[in-house]
Amino acid sequence: MAWQRKDLLGLADLSLDETETLLQSAQAFKPVFGRSVKKFPTLRGKTIINLFYEPSTRTRSSFEIAGKWLSADVINVSAANSSVAKGESLKDTAKTLEAMGADAIVLRHSTPGTPNYLAKSCQTSVINAGDGAREHPTQALLDLLTLKEKWGSFRAKNVLIIGDIRHSRVAKSNIYGLTRLQAKVTVCGPATLIPPGLERLGVSVKEQLENELLQKADAIYVLRLQRERQSQGLFPSLREYSKLYGLNSDRMRHTKPDVIIMHPGPANLGIEITTEVAYGKASSIREQVTNGVAVRMAVLYHLVGGGRQVVDLD
Ligand code: ASP
Repeated sequence: MAWQRKDLLGLADLSLDETETLLQSAQAFKPVFGRSVKKFPTLRGKTIINLFYEPSTRTRSSFEIAGKWLSADVINVSAANSSVAKGESLKDTAKTLEAMGADAIVLRHSTPGTPNYLAKSCQTSVINAGDGAREHPTQALLDLLTLKEKWGSFRAKNVLIIGDIRHSRVAKSNIYGLTRLQAKVTVCGPATLIPPGLERLGVSVKEQLENELLQKADAIYVLRLQRERQSQGLFPSLREYSKLYGLNSDRMRHTKPDVIIMHPGPANLGIEITTEVAYGKASSIREQVTNGVAVRMAVLYHLVGGGRQVVDLD
């Protein structure tokens, strides 16, 4: 399909066609990992600005690598070292970057909806790299790619998402993407960490991590406990949380032999997932990170490059 959108703000408003187009393009970029020279000329002369108001290791470096492999100039601006620290508004910062010729702004911000606001105020493409607890579209796309590579089709596959759904933008974007692709999604966590009315998004909600849920799952997605976004007292203690919801070797005994274990990183090892499971044979965490670059190449290719066929993607 011909790409129409200027911005990528979330998976909630992405159509099935658009989702599949991005995943197919990302798959087409995968062979780059086996090459000694990892460069395409697609975005030569384009400028991408990573504008991050919250910490990030994976997402920011992954966008940077993706942009550089497509030959764009990539500039990192972190709020702590920018004029934001002098009181400049987000819109002014973005307008300044736009006036310098930025073709895309990759924005991470703690306030939900900030990328949507910016997208309306700028001509430049805006890519949401995580806005508060709302959405993290490229994370979900890389997760979808990881599953698609293993399953081909999502139809009737059971995905169990465990943990802090309420504060997780990763969970929200994955729920939109997985349900659109016809997977069956169950979320499980303490009632205090599940937003009310989540069932309306077409997912089942469970408060107890029963063995039956583990047995049924084709993939288990463990979320990081978002302690920085929580007010006090949403669960009794980390020890208790870990006992009730932590994915460990004991729980793994109840899973399918080919279950896929995922985590968006960074993981609180020993809390929501043990080191053994995170690095065990069922884990796809490394593949998720690799797929992050491929997915971000696909997003930049369509949004900034207009899907120009400078590269033969077949
Ligand atoms: N890195 C992901 C995010 O920025 C997941 C997490 O931090 O828990 O949302």
